[in-house]
Amino acid sequence: MSSPLRRRGLPAAAAAPVGLALAAALAGCGSPSAAGDDGRLDVVASPPAFLEVVERVGGDAVDATGATPPGADAHAAELTGEQVGGVVDADLAVFAAGLAPSVDEAVALREGPSLDLMGVEGASPEDPHVWLDPALMADVAERVAAQLAELDPDAADAYGQRADAYVEELHALDTDLAEQLAPCRGAVLVTAHEAFGYLADRYGLEQTGITGIDPDVEPTPARLRDVAATVREAGVETVFFDDVTSTGVAQVLADEAGVATAVLSPLETSVEPDYVSAMRENAQVLRDGLVCDA
Ligand SMILES: [Zn+2]
Repeated sequence: MSSPLRRRGLPAAAAAPVGLALAAALAGCGSPSAAGDDGRLDVVASPPAFLEVVERVGGDAVDATGATPPGADAHAAELTGEQVGGVVDADLAVFAAGLAPSVDEAVALREGPSLDLMGVEGASPEDPHVWLDPALMADVAERVAAQLAELDPDAADAYGQRADAYVEELHALDTDLAEQLAPCRGAVLVTAHEAFGYLADRYGLEQTGITGIDPDVEPTPARLRDVAATVREAGVETVFFDDVTSTGVAQVLADEAGVATAVLSPLETSVEPDYVSAMRENAQVLRDGLVCDA
């Protein structure tokens, strides 16, 4: 599998100021559905979980690149002129509208096709974190395969076969997580940022976020009092941090309530070593930190 860190070659014009880079990128967009010089489709994707889907389903027929810089918090990522040009110029952009405003803006400049995965059944426009439900990820993989097949019909069978294999892994993951988290049904999941609503819905947990859907918006004092009350009343034992939200407020809340902290990954900055493994790790962290039946 190709590395998410790999960047495809950028056009010479990409070094020019944003406006010029965009103009050059748009000018090069005459046949947006054609594969590149090497016969592979150039696909940009964000967040990293969707990049993994593109790499798994696309295989060697696709040159996949992250739309946001590796390690960046998707919610707050700023794109350089080169990166905007990369999004505009790609054969396909795969994204979740509402997650990363900078990516949404770059995608809006495209003339070629874009695949907004907020179109999966069960997605709510208020919450872009659809990849955190393995069952929705299976739908994501099928949609990516269908879109790639439309752009590159000769490889349609290969896309379909790779998608089937990945979907099988995702369904096995879903079955395992459902079993592992069954004793935790109804548990209150206190998170630093509300990234885990789809996961919570899938496995019968009740998410309460200290910050909201966007981790960069500071919670109000009233919000903190509400969460602290929930922690007390529900007998919550753990406050779950993540790797994109600043830990200060969550740590103070956990200290004041006298409860533990643990780190849950929203898979927004990276997917290490891969989606299925990272989600299994998340499930174990939940099983250890939530109040579950023995
Ligand atoms: Zn998020």
